[in-house]
Amino acid sequence: VQAVFRSNLSHLMELMGSGKESLIFMKKRTKRLMAQWALAAQRLEQKLGGIQRGQKQILVHIGFLTEESGDVFSPRVLKGGPLGEMVQWADILAALYVLGHGLRVTVSLKELQSNLGVPPGRGNCPLTMPLPFDLIYTDYHGLQQMKQHMGLSFKKYRCRIRVIDTFGTEPAYNHEEYATLHGYRTNWGYWNLNPKQFMTMFPHTPDNSFMGFVSEELSETEKQLIKDGKASNMAVVYGKEASIWKLQGKEKFLSILNKYMEIHGTVYYESQRPPEVPAFVKNHGLLPQPEFQQLLRKAKLFIGFGFPYEGPAPLEAIANGCVFLQSRFSPPHSSLNHEFFRGKPTSREVFSQHPYAENFIGKPHVWTVDYNNSEEFEAAIKAIMRTQVDPYLPYEYTCEGMLERIHAYIQHQDFCTAPGPAPPAAHGPQSPFVLAPNATHLEWAHNSSVAPGSWPPAHSLQAWLAAPGRACTDACLDHGLVCEPSFFHFLNSRDAFIKLQVPCDSTESEMNHLYPAFAQPGQECYLQKEPLLFSCAGSSTKYHRLCPCRDFRKGQVALCQGCL
Ligand code: UDP
Repeated sequence: VQAVFRSNLSHLMELMGSGKESLIFMKKRTKRLMAQWALAAQRLEQKLGGIQRGQKQILVHIGFLTEESGDVFSPRVLKGGPLGEMVQWADILAALYVLGHGLRVTVSLKELQSNLGVPPGRGNCPLTMPLPFDLIYTDYHGLQQMKQHMGLSFKKYRCRIRVIDTFGTEPAYNHEEYATLHGYRTNWGYWNLNPKQFMTMFPHTPDNSFMGFVSEELSETEKQLIKDGKASNMAVVYGKEASIWKLQGKEKFLSILNKYMEIHGTVYYESQRPPEVPAFVKNHGLLPQPEFQQLLRKAKLFIGFGFPYEGPAPLEAIANGCVFLQSRFSPPHSSLNHEFFRGKPTSREVFSQHPYAENFIGKPHVWTVDYNNSEEFEAAIKAIMRTQVDPYLPYEYTCEGMLERIHAYIQHQDFCTAPGPAPPAAHGPQSPFVLAPNATHLEWAHNSSVAPGSWPPAHSLQAWLAAPGRACTDACLDHGLVCEPSFFHFLNSRDAFIKLQVPCDSTESEMNHLYPAFAQPGQECYLQKEPLLFSCAGSSTKYHRLCPCRDFRKGQVALCQGCL
């Protein structure tokens, strides 16, 4: 059966069920965005030019909304609690539905069991039974529930699972034995999945797949209207919960901001004004999403106080023509030094409240400054008030961009079939290999016999030898490329090192998430023994890491030029 694009989402809203505040929020969002999804579907359909797309049967099990995992989010929807996850799930459901796949949605253990065909009371069913789904999208909570209730089928079918994982899971934390031996164990567990099965909210590390969400796209007329209607002295503070106003040292920068701008907030409150919010702030209380957008349309500045990290709101603000001002974190926040990231399966260092905004968008839309430096802060406010900015939304966060990306994943990602053999070593590059202090470009001579049908296509591979202490994530970005973990196996052989003219005196094969790598003293080459540990993230001053990089589409970092 072929998948046919859908433009009416009414049936999806029925599938989503009802009752919970979280589901009500998600359905309202889906309804509001229906026209945008329909238009995006039309555009993508044209772009794909009638290629064959098989219809998949897909189960979406939203684990964190189940009573069995506590459902702590639903009761907080109207109280300023986190909404980012619900934004994302609503958009994932919409995208899968619009792409024309067969969908089931479950938000309780009972529904999950009945959809999986597990007889009630047969929790640890020892039999493997046929799974009626090609793909299952869930989260860490759902994964745990499936493991408990699928018996042996879990092992057999886990390659069909995709885990929606906001902040990402790096390979070192995912591999059970390695995590246990080397101190990468966390409460999230180690599932030995292909790291690409974890799907993130922002493109944090290319070790995982970037899923994302959408923000509303504006027409040219709307953009012009917004530009004409901006109040150059109006600022909105990022954050729905009063606790973000407890930030130490905020008096200093707030009083500077207050000199120039009228400060608005959307902080949830019950009956009286939250004491944390100063009297000069005009607090609207928590707003419904469309009203929040209206507020952003009038405002010139959206200002972050350092928390929450990496949510959807700054993208919405920028899409509505605001400048986003945020604090630089020095030293960076990470699982080593910050409560929020502690125990999360990532070593990522976060250099500002919203690294995506800083690195993928930047000026004039995004300003990242040191809030402890009053001069720098004041200069930024003044400059922002003087600059005209257009509303901006990166393509990957439009409905079309998200559809394009999920379409490509569904079409090409296959974690159930083992990857093909490493390609034979071809002839070496012309220029001799020189070990420069910075990353060194290594020419990879492609031949057509290289893993036909693999995805991303092997011809987009460019190998770089990173400087000591540099992760592949960064080494690739330094060259305008992105690290592509599925290409590691091309580089992981003595032949590959030789072909790349890396002067190995000896070669060793071990489990280490930094391998393949080269250590200069001793001219030793290290190969990766465990494919699950291929990792773009991670660095050590001991090693030059051998990094597989690829190109990417402008505004769609998840996809290479030839990836569609
Ligand atoms: N939002 C809202 N009302 C408000 C402020 C924000 O509905 O008064 C929405 C906003 O449109 C965004 C969502 O809250 O889509 C989540 O935004 P945030 O960046 O705060 O992330 P969170 O911490 O909630 O995950």
